[in-house]
Amino acid sequence: MFEFLSRKPIHDATASLTASTEVKTTTCYMCACRCGIRVHMREGEIRYIDGNPDHPINKGVICAKGSAGIMKQKSPARLTQPLLRKPGSERGAGEFEPISWERTFEILTERLGRIRATDPKKFALFTGRDQMQALTGLFARQFGTPNYAAHGGFCSVNMAAGMIYTIGGSFWEFGGPDLDRAKLFVMIGTAEDHHSNPMKIALGKFKRDGGRFISINPIRTGYSAIADEWIPIRPGTDGALFMALLHELIGTGMIDRPFLQRFTNAPQLVVLDEGEREGLFAFDPAAGRPGDGRNPHNKLAWDMAGNCVVTAYPEGIV
Ligand code: SF4
Repeated sequence: MFEFLSRKPIHDATASLTASTEVKTTTCYMCACRCGIRVHMREGEIRYIDGNPDHPINKGVICAKGSAGIMKQKSPARLTQPLLRKPGSERGAGEFEPISWERTFEILTERLGRIRATDPKKFALFTGRDQMQALTGLFARQFGTPNYAAHGGFCSVNMAAGMIYTIGGSFWEFGGPDLDRAKLFVMIGTAEDHHSNPMKIALGKFKRDGGRFISINPIRTGYSAIADEWIPIRPGTDGALFMALLHELIGTGMIDRPFLQRFTNAPQLVVLDEGEREGLFAFDPAAGRPGDGRNPHNKLAWDMAGNCVVTAYPEGIV
């Protein structure tokens, strides 16, 4: 890579002056913020990337990772064809040889066909952040395995879920915390770099306007470094902290019961009996399993007035 860099500078400020230059506007996907970017091309080749000043989210700001997006196209280290471990080579030794796509599909067809014919659940599919999760999930379900996942749920989907419940939008490009009107901002439980440039811009303005920022995070890097108060929670204890907060909110009646009933799974009963369904939501087996399409309302709650089990969400509500 260094050889490549020294041989061929990536950033060429004069590129925009040449007649054969064009600028493509698009969004960056080096992280989930989708900042607006301009890709500067010369003779059909990417020369460099910068922030798009006309984009409403990042207003021209670009981070180092975003400008390094050029490496998706240019890095000599990227995979350009399938590799197969060399015969006799130990797993982990890093010894591979290139093979054709035809050979690749032969190997996959044989191996996946054998698994599918015996026990499809032995096939686990894990994909990265590739915007293809609907498709890869469909493939896994058609294959017959429930064992598929993607990276999304570990760092950003928690944040997206929180934003859907609170501000009604899931991801950065559709909105964010209303820091223009807020006086106190508490950040907890997020992989903060997933709201990178837009959040940096908003936090800077928020603090300049006198807002108070509390960060709850085991480490004081990133946004925590500029927090007015940093609460260095012990790793893995977020759940306990949230339970304590919930306990306090419920105890003081500071909850919106109609909202919880209508929009969340708060009323649903949880199985406490030991067994494979322990810890999962209860349902009426006679009415089908949740998600099988027979009865989407098959979720149970406890009716305190009638002292009996009832359907959690009456038909027409969910
Ligand atoms: S924050 Fe950086 S990496 Fe993420 S989308 Fe914006 S420019 Fe790209």
